[in-house]
Formats: sequence, structure tokens, C-alpha cells
Amino acid sequence: MVIDCHVHVSARLPSHGLMSDKLVKSLPFRFMGWRLGLKPNSPTFDTELEAVMAKAIANTEKLDAAVILAFDAVHTHDGQLDSVNTHLYAKNDYVIELCQRHKNMLFGASIHPYRKDAVAELERCAKAGAALVKWLPIVQGFNPADPKCEPFYEALAALKIPLLSHTGGEQSLPNLDKSVADPDLLLPALKRGVTVIMAHCGTRSTSRETDYLPNFVKLVKEYEHCYGDTAALNLPTRSYAFPVILNDPVVRAKIVHGSDWPILPVPPATQIGFVKSLKLWTDMNWIRRDVKIKEALGFDDDYWQRAGKILRIPSPM
Ligand SMILES: [Zn+2]
Repeated sequence: MVIDCHVHVSARLPSHGLMSDKLVKSLPFRFMGWRLGLKPNSPTFDTELEAVMAKAIANTEKLDAAVILAFDAVHTHDGQLDSVNTHLYAKNDYVIELCQRHKNMLFGASIHPYRKDAVAELERCAKAGAALVKWLPIVQGFNPADPKCEPFYEALAALKIPLLSHTGGEQSLPNLDKSVADPDLLLPALKRGVTVIMAHCGTRSTSRETDYLPNFVKLVKEYEHCYGDTAALNLPTRSYAFPVILNDPVVRAKIVHGSDWPILPVPPATQIGFVKSLKLWTDMNWIRRDVKIKEALGFDDDYWQRAGKILRIPSPM
């Protein structure tokens, strides 16, 4: 069972979610829209994106399925919806609907831990088949080490639902609080027995940001139920992580596959060679290109099977 545990969806219809004007006009989103042939102001944006995403997954022969990530709105510390600071919102119900329509899509729920109904929403998502819960603290505006998160961690541990939480920097979405990028802030979740997948292994997305990769390596060695994903590691600013995670057998055994689609995968020429790299540039399916780069880097079969095992996806689905 080969799973991509990290694929994003966005939506414009109010019943599906929202994208702010600031986000739609930002350079990364204009580039992704142009490359995928999507017009964010089109009334059919959501169905067009769904079709592009479904095709990219289906045409990646290596993959059996991908986890499609909902993205919760920003909430204040007292649990109120903060619409002013919310630039991306993809509702759980919309992703549930997508997964009902596409057999190879799995539900990645997203629940802001400060929400008053956070635990109830988690229980509802669990019943709807959530494979994991996705967080992006620096964008969604919360601190994973805040005691407010503890009831949520207890519920995650009881329901045995893994937490996929962004670690390290991020440039594609407006940041609300850059100080909550440190993998160490997820210690309360690890201590309560939650399976945590640290997205991006704590890597930095620009040279100006703090590098949390060493903190990630430390945690992954200390906690059996701590993992990292390879999402967006094909960005030139993050690919320095590949030799670190591939050359240490203990770390290597804790890495799961994720693409971070629709983020651009750039073949790391210095690591896989210029000829192979040029060939991979010609693959316009970014989910498949990401897979091929990781195959070229030498990720083994255990790596490809690991996400399905951790997320407890029955094989065959
Ligand atoms: Zn992501």
C-alpha cells in the first residue's frame, strides 16, 4: 500500500471553504494556478482543481492513494473564529465529500485545537474515516505546547489518529506566528502517546529561517511514535535534509512519503545527477515527479509502505 500522506486542496465555494484575496494574488498561488491551468476567479475553480488533482494521483502508477488535507480556519485563544486572519480554509466536510467520490483519496482532517468543539469535531471526523489530523501552527495561529491542546491530544491518542503537524518554516501561506515552528513544541503530544508525523522534518524554507532539522532528528530517535515526512523536501531550500535522513539508519526508518502537492518538486541535480534531473523536469505531473525523484534518491520499499502502516490503511483498500 503506497500512500502520499500530504496533498493539499483549496476551495472557493463558501460551502467548501475559502481563499482570501491576499492568498489568491500571492506569487506562489499565481504560479501554481498558472501551472495547473486553473483560474482562481472561475466559478468552477473547485471542480476544476478536483479534476486536476484526481488525474495527477491516478496517473502516478506507484501510488495507491493520497491523503487529501482539509485546512481549518484560524481561531483565537478563546476559541472564536478569526476570519480576518484566515487566508485558506478547506472544510472537513468538503474533503469527506471528495473522498466519497474518489476511491484513491483518503480523508486528512484539520481541527484547530483552540476550538471549543475541537474534541467533538475530532470524534465526528474519526467516524467519517479520518486517516490523520493536519496542523500548520505558524499559519493557523496556535502553539502546540499550549495546555489548551491537551484534551485534544488525549482524544487523538484514544482514537489512535496520527497528527501530521508542520515543523520548520513556510513561505507559501501568510505566517501568523513564526515562533511556533519548533518540533520540540510537539513534545506534549508525544508524551501523551500521540503518533506524530513532523511534516518537512523541521527543515527551513529559506536561509533566513531557523533550521530545526537537528531537533527533529533528536526527537525521532527518542520517541518510537515520532516520524517525519518528505513533503516539499524537493524544494532547493529544503533538499539539504535528504542526506541527513537517508544516511542515518535510525532516522531513515522513521520517514514517510508525502509530496506537499501542489508545491513544485525541483529535482536536486547535485544529489541525483544532472542528466536524470533534466529528464525528471519533463514530467509535468508533480505528484509523479516527486515520486520519481525520491526513487532516484534511493528511498527503499519500507519507506514507500510506511505511511500506509502508520495510518493503518487496510490493504487492499
Ligand atoms: Zn503542506
